Amino acid sequence: MTKFIFITGGVVSSLGKGIVSSSIASLLTLCKYKVRVRKLDPYLNIDPGTMNPSQHGEVFVTDDGAETDMDLGHYERFTGIISKKSDNITSGKIFAEVLKKERRGDYLGSTVQVIPHVTDEIKKFIKRDLNKEDFVICEIGGTVGDIESLPFLEAIRQLRNELGKNKTLFVHLTLVPYLSSANEFKTKPTQHSVKELLGLGIQPDLLLCRAERKFDKKARSKISLFCNLFLESVILIENASTIYEVPLKLFKQGILKQIFSNFGLPTKKNVNLRLWEDFLDKFYKIKKSVKVAIVGKYTNLSESYKSLNEALFHSGIFHNTKVEIDWIDSKDIGDIKKCEKLLKSFDGILVPGGFGKDGTTGKLNAIKIAKKFKIPFLGICFGMQLAILESISNLKGFKNASSTEFGKTKLPIISMMHEWKKNNQTFKHDTSNLGGSMRLGSYTSVLKRGSKVFSIYKKNKINERHRHRYEVNYNFKKEIEMSGVSLSGMSPDGNLVEIMERNDHPWFIGVQFHPELKSTPFKPHPIFNSYIKALLKNYQ
Ligand code: GLN
Repeated sequence: MTKFIFITGGVVSSLGKGIVSSSIASLLTLCKYKVRVRKLDPYLNIDPGTMNPSQHGEVFVTDDGAETDMDLGHYERFTGIISKKSDNITSGKIFAEVLKKERRGDYLGSTVQVIPHVTDEIKKFIKRDLNKEDFVICEIGGTVGDIESLPFLEAIRQLRNELGKNKTLFVHLTLVPYLSSANEFKTKPTQHSVKELLGLGIQPDLLLCRAERKFDKKARSKISLFCNLFLESVILIENASTIYEVPLKLFKQGILKQIFSNFGLPTKKNVNLRLWEDFLDKFYKIKKSVKVAIVGKYTNLSESYKSLNEALFHSGIFHNTKVEIDWIDSKDIGDIKKCEKLLKSFDGILVPGGFGKDGTTGKLNAIKIAKKFKIPFLGICFGMQLAILESISNLKGFKNASSTEFGKTKLPIISMMHEWKKNNQTFKHDTSNLGGSMRLGSYTSVLKRGSKVFSIYKKNKINERHRHRYEVNYNFKKEIEMSGVSLSGMSPDGNLVEIMERNDHPWFIGVQFHPELKSTPFKPHPIFNSYIKALLKNYQ
């Protein structure tokens, strides 16, 4: 029967619960167990789709078209297990479900309350859509003590009661700060956090303590004594030089032994950790480096583009190369001369996904510079749309080529499907609400034989994940091609442009989808592998 591991966080946020959950999932997967990893987010939004990425980080899109928390990206990257819509829930979704039932009269006149109605719904979610998993790892978002997370903590407390101790495990992640003035690790915040959990009826079974460096036996014994845990159940996680070190660090600290003994399972011998060891070995031996300019709009760029960051890192390791990223705010390069000066010396230029007109001049300038100096260019989603606009705007009469995303235009080269017509046929794009109007999730593209992307993927049908509202307008296909663009990937019906490339450039590719969402350390994405190869002046 399925066993549940609940992961909570205490003391401060940003301790890396997502990485810890992913690492535990990875280790269990390497033990050949069937695992799912889920995220329970206490905020009231229905999903993170409409949340500003500079505040909340990247929106991760699943194959089945859900806009989810970026931690699901870590889960996939660490385990290779493809996440589903049902792996991310928010308070907003839970409340919406409860209120829908209330209106429908499902509660038969009873008073609708957090306990049991909201908590029942949470428990249902935790156990939903499973198929003989050995372990389900549930990360509870937020920090213990937050008002919003209370129903979630209550729900997992109830589950322990219902399923028993050998089917549930409470893991709590805390911080053990080092105070240099006292030359001591301080355990009090951890004690308080555990006390807070105890007040809610949850005694953690395992404590994972984040510390800047290895802490002494004294701190560990103190935590064990005050938090009512065996010494071996207090596990240290010292800072790592990459997040991908965490699975091995946890393994060396004996986390698997602790997990198995809590569940009354025999310890697994000979866990094969080769994948991680080989990956890290390559990481420690990096010799070369390349510099990429990523031109975007959000200020907190590395969190807003988490998967992109990781995908470049994975392909860098694949080529024994460190990929140095300079995040450039497109508003700073609105002047073409300034842009040229800044970008000319980069090995590669990348324009990632984005929304809205703001800062597009700078992005278009970056594309011009990539073309002029034959710098390898990758345009992702919005980046591809802009590369098409930049190209066609050089044709006579197309100077004002635009996207309807920027307002009314006579030249809607990029527009929503329902705005264009072909052979008197109209196309539909559902625009009923903001969160529901996008092309989301996995779609097939058919690649042109002989194209660069065909040589990269080495097949003619691929599936990649999408998240966009606008499309390249089919009615301008001829003009787009006349401007020097080859449309090398199309939707199976031939209506939607999925990939463009330039034949007058050594490496210039734009993709309507987000390849970064499918890259993992063990399976770096072919597009990024080829891009990094090009940055090393080694063209495919
Ligand atoms: N804003 C563009 C669209 O909605 C591109 C979106 C993106 O880059 N993800 O089509």
